[in-house]
Amino acid sequence: MGETYLKGQMTAAVLYGKEDIKIEKVPIPTLEPGEVLVKVNVALTCGTDLKVYQRGYHARMIVPPALFGHELSGVIEEVGPGVRDFRRGMKVVALNSAPCGACFYCLKHQENICEDLLFNNGAYAEYIKIPRRIVETNMLALPDDLSFESAAMTEPLACALRGLQETGADIGDTVTVIGAGPLGLMLVQVAKLTGCKVISVVKRAEQVAAAKRFGADEVVQIGKTHDPIDRVIDVTEGRGADVVIEAVGRPQTWQWAVEMVRRGGVVNFFGGCASGTKVELDTNRLHYSEITLKATFHHTPQTVRKAFSLIAEKNVKSTDYVTGEAPLSKLKQVLQQMLDRGSQIKTAIIPGH
Ligand SMILES: [Zn+2]
Ligand SMILES: [Zn+2]
Repeated sequence: MGETYLKGQMTAAVLYGKEDIKIEKVPIPTLEPGEVLVKVNVALTCGTDLKVYQRGYHARMIVPPALFGHELSGVIEEVGPGVRDFRRGMKVVALNSAPCGACFYCLKHQENICEDLLFNNGAYAEYIKIPRRIVETNMLALPDDLSFESAAMTEPLACALRGLQETGADIGDTVTVIGAGPLGLMLVQVAKLTGCKVISVVKRAEQVAAAKRFGADEVVQIGKTHDPIDRVIDVTEGRGADVVIEAVGRPQTWQWAVEMVRRGGVVNFFGGCASGTKVELDTNRLHYSEITLKATFHHTPQTVRKAFSLIAEKNVKSTDYVTGEAPLSKLKQVLQQMLDRGSQIKTAIIPGH
């Protein structure tokens, strides 16, 4: 391609272990054929990053010391040999993974559980290298009028869309979403956009207003007057919801989900619990009430594109989810604040500052 590749150092966040990150100079990645170097404009914080920060690793994605962060958008700085669809200067969103497209699961259109799902991390940095497979499958060019911040939400929104889609929820159905973190709120929003009646089960007082803003018709706050299960049963005419999506990731709320769904309804265990945990479920209720239990994890290239078009059409905007901005140098403080207060929805980390 005749381009001269950037050489030298960049600033990046390096995860060393439990609550241990340092902002350091590291080499700018060099490109192999098919790869692309993106200058990161925005990297959004996310609950997964927070877990990674808290635990110091991620079973499937990150072994320290490592670059991390995975919700990003930016501008292509360099393209490796053989890249055809992208050029230097294009604004893009690059997803955090890409399936192989050839294994048993990919051929069954379950690309999210691909045997060889390739993850890419390192959004909290001035530059990030995008591997060939992601360039070819899960990197999308931004229309001119789309903000970097909104585009960077493609990844979590793709997970939320897939979560709803797999339940079969349709216009007029009652969907209960347990949890009001960013993903819980996105599930509320996409269920509302689908034409469902949405019940949001939240924990903290400030989440009540957030859930309403994203379209919840009813908000049930845990710990206020009623048992949350009874309350959901009450507002669904004594039946329970058609669909219940658990977006907390705790065994107790998994159990609630099963108790909040109607006969013949569908439960999606969307929130992943800590490994080794177990739940106890009433076998009679599952069988005689014909309850369908599902779980969804991650996204597929199809839901990535759906999410991107919802964002490009401005149906989902970053201004609703991103509550603040901070330079890369403040990343540790931002994550620590999220841990302590749990109130920020998402913060836009700006590596260039
Ligand atoms: Zn995320
Ligand atoms: Zn595969």
